[in-house]
Amino acid sequence: MKVELLPALTDNYMYLIIDDETKEAAIVDPVQPQKVVETVKKRGVKLTTVLTTHHHWDHAGGNEKLVKLEPGLKVCGGDDRIGALTHKVTHLSTLQVGSLSVKCLSTPCHTSGHICYFVTKPGSSEPPAVFTGDTLFVAGCGKFYEGTADEMYRALIEILGRLPPDTRVYCGHEYTINNLKFARHVEPSNAAVQEKLAWAKEKYSIGEPTVPSTIAEELTYNPFMRVREKTVQQHAGETDPVTTMRAIRKEKDHFKVPRD
Ligand SMILES: [Zn+2]
Repeated sequence: MKVELLPALTDNYMYLIIDDETKEAAIVDPVQPQKVVETVKKRGVKLTTVLTTHHHWDHAGGNEKLVKLEPGLKVCGGDDRIGALTHKVTHLSTLQVGSLSVKCLSTPCHTSGHICYFVTKPGSSEPPAVFTGDTLFVAGCGKFYEGTADEMYRALIEILGRLPPDTRVYCGHEYTINNLKFARHVEPSNAAVQEKLAWAKEKYSIGEPTVPSTIAEELTYNPFMRVREKTVQQHAGETDPVTTMRAIRKEKDHFKVPRD
């Protein structure tokens, strides 16, 4: 499979997933439909599927226009508030994009109908990919608009955290540097945080994205995926992973990002 990053709006990412074998393609969160159509044409692929992570405008806001430009698309999502929805999916729903297999993972919290999409090429050795919308970011997680710390714990630790470690993580926004500055505040002695921050600043300076990461990497520097670690719990003044999750999310909601 090929995954092409298509930057959109200020800091959003759309992703074109291409099955090399059949040239069939899916698009994740096509908020800028014109850009999607142009890329599809340029690559000579057949777009069949829209994978919508959640109903927020900066993710689902292009669906209606895209289906006008490309009639017949299958539009997937886990929330009735998603525009042009044709295929409502739930936890562990599966679908095919050419020879690629897509498994839907329900991760309510940022929004109640949020879905992450786990994509594999069965029978191949290539690493899987997961499209995490506003649930999991590189070194961070989405705000808890419609859910609880308990739900985010389930999403990050019990669902996404148990995917194969080499799974590529493609998230909905380029928030990496600010997330890592908060991670550094939580765990000042974590070398993985320091190294990733230096790397992300370098990427930013040459205008390159910091996506994808991997699940294995996230477990080393993402404080929200590290709520079982003593260092993170001690920072929060808690001894339980879920209350730690709640405390550090609340802290990050008010965190003033240093300008270094
Ligand atoms: Zn959102």
